Order: sequence, then C-alpha cells, then structure tokens
Amino acid sequence: MAALTQEPALLPEPKSLYDLPYEALEAWLKERGEPAYRARQIFHGLYVRRAPSIEALTDLPKALRAALKEAFVLDRPTEVARDVAPDGTIKLLLALEDGEMIETVIMRHRYGPSVCVTTQVGCRIGCTFCASTLGGLKRNLRPGEIVAQVLAAQRLLDAEGVRLGRIVVMGIGEPFENYDATVAFLRIVTDPRGLGIGQRHITVSTSGIVPRIYDFAELGLQVRLALSLHAPTDELRTRLMPINKKYPLADVMTAAKAYVEKTRRRITFEYILLGGVNDRPEHARALAELVRPVFSLVNLIPYNPVPERPYVRAPEPEIRRFRAILEDAGIVVTRRREHGTTIAAACGQLRARHAVPLTVRLGAAGVPSER
Ligand code: SAH
Repeated sequence: MAALTQEPALLPEPKSLYDLPYEALEAWLKERGEPAYRARQIFHGLYVRRAPSIEALTDLPKALRAALKEAFVLDRPTEVARDVAPDGTIKLLLALEDGEMIETVIMRHRYGPSVCVTTQVGCRIGCTFCASTLGGLKRNLRPGEIVAQVLAAQRLLDAEGVRLGRIVVMGIGEPFENYDATVAFLRIVTDPRGLGIGQRHITVSTSGIVPRIYDFAELGLQVRLALSLHAPTDELRTRLMPINKKYPLADVMTAAKAYVEKTRRRITFEYILLGGVNDRPEHARALAELVRPVFSLVNLIPYNPVPERPYVRAPEPEIRRFRAILEDAGIVVTRRREHGTTIAAACGQLRARHAVPLTVRLGAAGVPSER
C-alpha cells in the first residue's frame, strides 16, 4: 500500500477503536504484550464482519475484549432522520454521542454506490452560498466519527448485498482544517485488512487551505484531490469564499500546480454555477486561462439552492454555454450529476433544517413532505 506513514501528531486521545489506524492498533496491542495477529483479527471483526460492539469481537479472548472495552468505545451514531429521494439517494442525519448532528449521504451510480462524509460539526470557512457554514464551527470530528459514517452507509447497503466502492469527503466541514483526523480516516478505510476502499476511489475536497495542499501532496497517496475554485478572479472569489483573503487565487493555483507536479495526478477544480454571478462567458474565458497551465479537469456543479442564501442556480442554457467555452479552450470538463436535490442533499442542508425543531421526519413512504 502507498505509505500513509505520517503519524497524525495533533489527534486527540483515541477514544474509539475506530479512531485507530492499523499500525496504531498494533502498537497498542504490543504494549500490552498481545500478539501482532490480534490487530488483524480486530480489523477483520470491525470492518469486514462489521461487529456491532467490542463484545461481539468473539474471536478475541474475554480478557482482551475486557481490556479493549476499558480503553475504547465504538462509535454508533444514532439515526435521527433519513430522507430517501426517488433517485435512490439516501441522506442520513446522525446524532453523535454529545448530541451534535452531522449528515452522511449515500448516492447511487452506474458503477455502484458512494458515500459523502462529514469531517466537522459545522464549518468556519464561511462560503456565502453554502448551508454548512451557517452556524459556524462547533467542533472537529475524530477519525472514528468519520469512519462510523462509512460503516453506517455500508451497514445499510449490506441489506441490499451491495459493497460501498467510493467515498467523497465533501460533506459538512473543511477536511483540511481537520487534517490529521482526515488523514487517519483515509488510512483506516483504505486499509486492505479492513474496508479496503481503493485510494483512487476516494476524493477529498478542499476550499483551498494552501499549506495543507502541500502537505497532502507529500503523503504519496493515490486519493484524488478536488479544489473548490468557484470564481476566476480574486474579487469575485473573495465575495463567494472569504477564505480567498487568506489564500488568494495565485497561491491556490501555485499549490495546485505543485500538487500535480509532486503526485503526477490530475487535480479537479470544482466550479459551482450561480445564476448571474459567476456564470457569464467572460468568467468561463477567465477560468480557462486560469486552469490551463495545470493538469486538471473542471467539474461544473449546478447550484443546489439553499433557502437562507441569496443565490440561484444558473439557467440550463448558461451552463451549456459555459461548458462549451471551456471545452473550446481545450479544458477537460465534467458536470456533476445531481443526486437527491429533492431532499436538499447539498452540504449542510438537512442539518441546517434540523437546527430548528425537527419538522421534517421520514414520511410513511420514506420521502419527506417538504419541497
Ligand atoms: N469544504 C470543502 C468540502 C465540502 S463541500 C470544500 O469547500 O471543498 C463540497 C463541494 O460542494 C464544494 O465545492 C462546495 O463549494 C460545494 N457546495 C456547497 N454548497 C453547495 C450547494 N448548495 N450546491 C452545490 N454545491 C455546493
């Protein structure tokens, strides 16, 4: 496996068994004089058999289970609400042990299901179009709280006999502001002794935390990196993403270029199309010039409107014209297929809605009554 060797230095004390990458678990066991193969048994029990509790790791001796229970819990977030869209998208609202709520979304594709995970309770990046940042940042998630979302999704899919093949780290929060937990999470879910999700099948999206882009390139992972650009000029990007004041476009693009040179991997630039704001032909032409020097593709994202935000989705002809200008300029363009727009599946929308008393509960047919 490509080396995810950097030890997460700033992590909180592991609390959950799901917080531990394989090597950390091995070290813990070694300290207690346990044989190394116990780590393999535990990973198999947790991630392949998907044991619901430490007690249920029945191939371990009783004394070891007792010691594990003394030292760790297993995250079992409670499902507070579940929205199911006609296209099969399932959005879970999960309550963590301290009562904070997060969202996890399961999406369906021709090539199988994927899950979108949350890395922080809230967000402090402050993008002016986004629902996730409305209440600010409450706290970071532990690695295990991110892992538990993947397990929640996989358990749900187990009932259909389907294996989760892909992960997008595009839920609530900025993964590069919870960097160490995100990296530990990647180590855990890609470990072939556990869930074994292919690194190439994982995408991490960042709003452009420049120093972390350099760090991430150093890890030597095959995980894909996506960067939220959303505007071709500093003036406009700062208006949409205040983080641009701290990390302006020139720095972001230099980091993107360095990432590509270091990893030899194509970077994805995400671009949300907001009607009348960043969807004009001059924006498309400026965007083409901006990204041309970088081995990249542009992923156009039709905006999923957020009631609290003043933006609207770009009209379909604008989206097509925007795409054509980029393609004529030789840029590789993809368009994000939309999932679950009827259930407000864009980042933070369900959580934002539940910040007020729980009004949208699962209807009898599994489809929410609103919208
Ligand atoms: N904080 C990270 C990852 C989370 S958001 C980031 O900013 O990249 C994943 C992507 O969804 C980002 O490109 C984000 O800008 C975009 N996004 C946020 N709100 C959206 C909405 N209402 N409709 C469409 N895309 C949205």
